[in-house]
Amino acid sequence: MFEIVVTLCLLNSPDTCRVQLLAGEQHQSKALCEAALKGAALLQGTLAEKRLIAPQAPFCRSAGPGLALSKVSDGVFVAKGLIEEPSASNKGNVSNIGVVIGETSIAVIDSGGSRAIGEDLYRAVTSLSPLPVSHVILTHMHPDHVFGASVFAESGARIVGHPNLQRALQDRQEAYLAGFSDLIGNPGFIGTSIPSIESAEPVIDLGGRRLTLTFWPNAHTATDVTVFDEKSSTFFSGDLVFHDHAPALDGSLKGWQTVLANIQKTANIQNLVPGHGGPVLSVSEGTNPLQHYLEVLETDTRTALKHGERIGDAVEHIGRSEADKWALFELFNTRNATVAYTELEWE
Ligand SMILES: [Zn+2]
Repeated sequence: MFEIVVTLCLLNSPDTCRVQLLAGEQHQSKALCEAALKGAALLQGTLAEKRLIAPQAPFCRSAGPGLALSKVSDGVFVAKGLIEEPSASNKGNVSNIGVVIGETSIAVIDSGGSRAIGEDLYRAVTSLSPLPVSHVILTHMHPDHVFGASVFAESGARIVGHPNLQRALQDRQEAYLAGFSDLIGNPGFIGTSIPSIESAEPVIDLGGRRLTLTFWPNAHTATDVTVFDEKSSTFFSGDLVFHDHAPALDGSLKGWQTVLANIQKTANIQNLVPGHGGPVLSVSEGTNPLQHYLEVLETDTRTALKHGERIGDAVEHIGRSEADKWALFELFNTRNATVAYTELEWE
């Protein structure tokens, strides 16, 4: 496979460059690629807006291998994200991604934490099947799940999510882009942006294959969607289920406990793909450790409140008995304790 790419450099630092993929420009042979080059358009206007420059014309090259996808079931694949903080070396490849292939089109569930990871995912999907990606379903607002979506938008896919998602990202995009730009740095982060997002329909038909979506109330975040592939009974939970990787509470503790109990009661889930860890679990494997963590968070917080402990002291020990059970615990637990304390304080 050959692809058309363009070198993009920072306007302020023209030696810092990344080679970016042009969506929809994957070709079987070099000759076909070069023929398509003549028509390849570069949006100079939007480059200036993003403070980028393209010092030379787009060119053809042989396409890289793309993100590693493992098979869950016929037509269902998952790319497991690393259990790490986003960094220059992982480019934000720290969350799980699903791919479901129907008879007429493909859905991608989540998209990785940068444009570069989105492109690696796009390469992997393109080499798996010639069908178009009709939908990218974003399970919630967190940047490690949404920042890879723009390449799919450019290829014609609809980017869809919870009815709250577009607004939530509008409010947070500056902070999210700055935060991930600091962690990943340049050149890896060059070209990353948030595409516009539509509200998803509750059922997505990929041709002979239906995905049913559930839009949950405030839990992990206020934008959580889960996706169920009826054909393989595979449930993509997004970050409503964390496994191995420390949970991150950015919505409501009580809300998350209720939603998790609902997921545990959902009949007929054969494969659960969590947002982090796994990547293919039974419902109990996926949800029991998280249920326990949330219970500890609640119990410890209620005890601290009962003793009139101040928040600054309380968050030092709330949830701490779980420290050995989760990777990256220190990065997330204090914040989770703060959210829990603030929520339960006013009950
Ligand atoms: Zn998340």
